[in-house]
Amino acid sequence: MVKKVRILGIDWSVEVTDEIDCFGECHPGKLKIFINSKLSEAAQYYILFHEITEIIINELEIEMEHKDLTALSAVLYAVIQDNALATTLTKEK
Ligand SMILES: [Zn+2]
Repeated sequence: MVKKVRILGIDWSVEVTDEIDCFGECHPGKLKIFINSKLSEAAQYYILFHEITEIIINELEIEMEHKDLTALSAVLYAVIQDNALATTLTKEK
């Protein structure tokens, strides 16, 4: 798992832990994202992407129901994966 992610210019640390009851959560005050260690690594990244989407939506003060946020995050994640976009974009840096 990555140790940090930069979201809208701000660095958030990422911690995989067994001390949360949900799949993932973010603590804006601490700039920390927690991911449940009981998930497979693939599922951890899926949840990380959900948390990133949630942080962006909150930061931009976009009104969106959580179920819509979950759907948006899932389809964006699928497009990135299906087209290997993350790898391609990183290589072109
Ligand atoms: Zn959520």
